[in-house]
Amino acid sequence: MSLLSIVVPSYNEEENIADFYQEILKISPFFEEKKIELEILYIDDGSKDGTAAEVKKLRAVDERVHLLSFSRNFGKEAAVYAGLQKAKGDYVVLMDVDLQDPPSLLPEMFSYLEQGYDSVATRRVTRKGEPVIRSFFARLFYRLMNKISKTEIVDGARDYRLMTRQVVDAILSITEYNRFTKGIFGWVGFETKWIEFENVERNKGETKWSFWKLFLYSIDGITAFSTAPLAVASIMGVVFCFAAFLLIIVTIARKMLFGDPTSGWPSLVCIISLISGVQLFCLGIVGQYLSRTYMEVKRRPVYLIKEDI
Ligand code: UDP
Ligand code: MG
Repeated sequence: MSLLSIVVPSYNEEENIADFYQEILKISPFFEEKKIELEILYIDDGSKDGTAAEVKKLRAVDERVHLLSFSRNFGKEAAVYAGLQKAKGDYVVLMDVDLQDPPSLLPEMFSYLEQGYDSVATRRVTRKGEPVIRSFFARLFYRLMNKISKTEIVDGARDYRLMTRQVVDAILSITEYNRFTKGIFGWVGFETKWIEFENVERNKGETKWSFWKLFLYSIDGITAFSTAPLAVASIMGVVFCFAAFLLIIVTIARKMLFGDPTSGWPSLVCIISLISGVQLFCLGIVGQYLSRTYMEVKRRPVYLIKEDI
């Protein structure tokens, strides 16, 4: 018998816990036939509602259900990391509890592992039902990211991914504090099969990601997988030196030809504000990298466990 671990990060999802379990039961005969046992690991990411209680109810009737509760909300990335560490399976799949990652795809995904792929990833081809502004910025992010990073990050890729033990161990060997899983998947490599599906709307409850949270998350992604922004300061420096050089020549030439070196203070004010803006912007970029280096150096744990059942 081999084992498939289903890792489910859950944050304030009391309404979805049981529904998710029911959906998994529907596909379990497929795995029974293949002599594969299942374990469902709900990672309660410091929920303030009855998420943990709901999981315990399931646990009371089904030993295959496990609960890992954090001491507070550490974020989805931490929940994914904890789940991968905890999973004992020969195969591991990551899934959202809100059923936006359709469990019905699992048998198909598994068939690709049998064909020899190391991991099977999923990608939404539509963003139906998502706010337009959010889709726009998401697309922009993926375009920018793929320009400035060597690691491929696929537009519309979900965290819904089925992996062999070898891939899981590779991901776990990355112990960094700022975890941007979408990038880590690409970074570790291996033979990956992509499956596409139409966007599914959330089962119950609301999304946990505000626009602002997503924006900060995108900066995490950029700093974790590219150092290109750090070059911005150097490039701007060269550009401004060049501009200043031209300006000096123009000013000298004008003084010699027309005898008027000054063109008033408004131009000076504009130049000073422009350059100080650029300087602060570049300093900010350096700050983003510095703050993340600071967090890495502290080596704090990615999450803390309150309960492990
Ligand atoms: N989640 C989590 N911790 C958080 C935020 C979200 O574990 O701090 C979980 C959430 O319960 C869900 C998954 O991550 O299972 C995806 O979250 P959500 O559906 O809110 O995001 P969206 O699908 O809208 O991007
Ligand atoms: Mg969702």
